[in-house]
Amino acid sequence: GSRFQVVQQGPPIEVFQLNRLYMEDPHPSKINLSIGAYRDENGKPWVLPVVRKMEKQMANDETLLHEYLPVLGMEQFSAASTAMLLGEDSPAIASGRAFGVQTLSGTGSLRVGAELLNKHLKYTNFYYSVPTWDNHHLVFVNSGFTNPRTYRYWNAKQRGIDFEGLIEDLRSAPENSVVLLHACAHNPTGIDPTQEQWEKIADVMEERKLFPFFDSAYQGFASGDLDQDAWAVRYFVKRGFELVCAQSYAKNFGLYNERVGNLAIVVSDASVVPAMKSQLTWIVRGMYSNPPAHGARVVTNVLANKQLFDEWREHIKAMSSRVIEMREALRAELIKLGTPGNWDHIVKQIGLFSYTGLTQRQTEHLIQEYHIYLLKSGRINVCGLNPNNVQYMARAMHDAVTK
Ligand code: PLP
Repeated sequence: GSRFQVVQQGPPIEVFQLNRLYMEDPHPSKINLSIGAYRDENGKPWVLPVVRKMEKQMANDETLLHEYLPVLGMEQFSAASTAMLLGEDSPAIASGRAFGVQTLSGTGSLRVGAELLNKHLKYTNFYYSVPTWDNHHLVFVNSGFTNPRTYRYWNAKQRGIDFEGLIEDLRSAPENSVVLLHACAHNPTGIDPTQEQWEKIADVMEERKLFPFFDSAYQGFASGDLDQDAWAVRYFVKRGFELVCAQSYAKNFGLYNERVGNLAIVVSDASVVPAMKSQLTWIVRGMYSNPPAHGARVVTNVLANKQLFDEWREHIKAMSSRVIEMREALRAELIKLGTPGNWDHIVKQIGLFSYTGLTQRQTEHLIQEYHIYLLKSGRINVCGLNPNNVQYMARAMHDAVTK
C-alpha cells in the first residue's frame, strides 16, 4: 500500500468545477456565467490589443533575458502600480511612505500581506464580508490568521448593502483586527458602499483601531475609470490610515494566468520601510523566491507610455461598457417576459458580477435544464452574456422563477 493512503479526497472548488462542466458540455446553447473572466460579444476570451502589441514587441527584443528578478520583483513595476492605485500626486508616495512589492497576482498579494501582518505584527483576527470571494478565508487562515470572523454585508431582502449590520459588526471587533475591504466592484454582490458609507466605515475603523486590508482586483472595471475605482483606498490614505492593498492585473489587463500583482503598502513613517522590505524579502524568499517577469513587463511598459496607457484605458472602458449593456439587456428581457420580481439590482450592481438573487434550486434548474453554468449563490459573470444569448438566459430565468 501507499503511505499516501492517509490522504483524503478534498472538496472541489466550485468555480473551477463549473468551468470544467461547461467545457465538457456539448449542448449548443450552453452559457458559462461561472468563472470571473472577461468574454467579448462573441463569448470569446479577449487578449487586449495593447497587450498583444507589447508582447509582439517583446518577442523581438533580444535584450530581454530570462534572468531572475529581485525577490520583491521589478521596482519600476511596483512603483507604477502603487502610483496607479494611490494617484500620481499622492503625498504618501512623495514622502516615501508608500511602496509596492511585485507579487503573484491578487491572490499572491493577499498571501504576502497576510503573512507580513501575522508574522511581524502578530495579528490573528481578520474580518471578511458575508458573502465574499471564496478564497479570502483560506488565504488568511493559511497565513496564520487563527481567528477568522465575518461582518455582515448583504441584505438579501433589499438586494443591497446591510450597512447597519456592517457597522455593528466592525464596532464590536477587537483592536488590531484586520478588515478585508473590497476596493471596488465587491465580489460577488456587485454593490459597493457609497462615499458617505466609506466615511462611516473609516470612522469606526479609526475608533476601534482596526487595520484596513484592501483587495483591488477590479480597478477600472467598476466605473470604467481608474481614479474613481481607487477612491476608497485613496480616502483611507488621506485619513491617515496605515494600510495594505492587494492589486491584481488579472481582470483589467486580461493577464489572468500571467500572475501579475502588486502589494501596495502605506505606512505613517518612512523610517520603517527598509526593515519592512527586508522582512518581506524573507517572506517571499521562503514562499516562491521571486516573481515572473513577463506580465509585469507588459504592464510596466503600458503604464509608462502615455499613448499605450490611453489605449489601455479605452480597453477598460470597452469591457466595462459591454458589461453594463448586458446588465441592461438582461433586465429589459426579464421585464418584457413579465418575470415576477424586481430586477433593478441587475443594473445597479457594478463590476463583472451580478448577485441575481436566484435561489440554489433555481440555479440548479438553469444548469440542468438550460446548460447555463452559474454559482449556487446565484452569482453570474455578466460578460458571459452577449446579444446572441441574453434572450435565452432571460427565458431560462423566467422558467426557473415561475416554476
Ligand atoms: N480578489 C477578488 C475579490 C477576486 O475576485 C479575485 C479573482 O477572482 C482575486 C482577488 C484574485 O485573483 P488573481 O489571484 O487571479 O489576481
